[in-house]
Amino acid sequence: MEERLEEILDHAIENGRGMTALGKTATYIPELGHVNKEYLGVCVCTGDGTYYESGDSDIRFTIQSISKVISLAVALERCGFQKTFDRVGMEPSGDSFDSLVRLDLASDHPSNPMINSGAIAVASHLSCEISFERMLAFTRKLCMDDEIILDEKVYHSEMGHISRNKAIAYLLESKGILENGVEESLDLYVRMCSLCVTARSLAGFGLILASDGINPLTGERLLSSKVVQTVKSIMLTCGMYDGSGRFAVEVGVPSKSGVGGGILSVVDKRMGIGIFGPALDSKGNSIAGQYVLRELSDKMRLHMFADHVPEY
Ligand code: GLU
Repeated sequence: MEERLEEILDHAIENGRGMTALGKTATYIPELGHVNKEYLGVCVCTGDGTYYESGDSDIRFTIQSISKVISLAVALERCGFQKTFDRVGMEPSGDSFDSLVRLDLASDHPSNPMINSGAIAVASHLSCEISFERMLAFTRKLCMDDEIILDEKVYHSEMGHISRNKAIAYLLESKGILENGVEESLDLYVRMCSLCVTARSLAGFGLILASDGINPLTGERLLSSKVVQTVKSIMLTCGMYDGSGRFAVEVGVPSKSGVGGGILSVVDKRMGIGIFGPALDSKGNSIAGQYVLRELSDKMRLHMFADHVPEY
């Protein structure tokens, strides 16, 4: 007999808990180092808006790099494709998320908007067009979660340890890629990274991306089809840092991770999945979270190239 969705989630969390000991929380932002690395939670939001949850799915944590998906989507909507992709590429870099080597030596613009250099370039552009308050309000809509706020402690912790991202921003400025000043660009970038979400909020956002940018509960279109198609493609190829290739083979679902331990996954036309597991692997991806997603993908046939799709 097929397992029910609730049981599949419970088993995946139970099995994944053993993996948290193998990872570490991010400590280069000191405040993230204080999070309990044993947390592990998952939430699935299916096409009719029903949420299924297991484990620590209602603990708030900072969205970090997952905000890069939101910033890219808003930049594409407001600044257009040409202006956005004039400054940032759409190729996987194969380098770590905070690398500046390739940008300095081999290229005149960041490889893609999912690494720090690309996201800072996008934030620079956005900071001339839209306030942080409006970005926050839109993030709440995309995640169907009105309780998302700025985590002041994490924001100040990152701003106090910003040297590497500042180096990236100055390099971008030297190449004429920044639209706004270094301080203004970094401020919006770090504020967006410091928004507090839950696995449940990410599952809601995932469902909106799975539903072509429309909130299926209200019928409201939040993002255009072309923007949604673009961000999902970039999530698939670049969303899991330099682990994106293996993740695409093993899980096969467009996803974006953050060093706060979150993973946003989009199972096209079927569901959104949110993960929280702050113990990270060496690439900065939630170690147990990836395990949970592999198990869900196998059991529910979520891989985008799976041959048979059962009802979930
Ligand atoms: N705020 C983090 C940084 O810029 C985000 C990194 C991430 O989640 O990959 O370093």
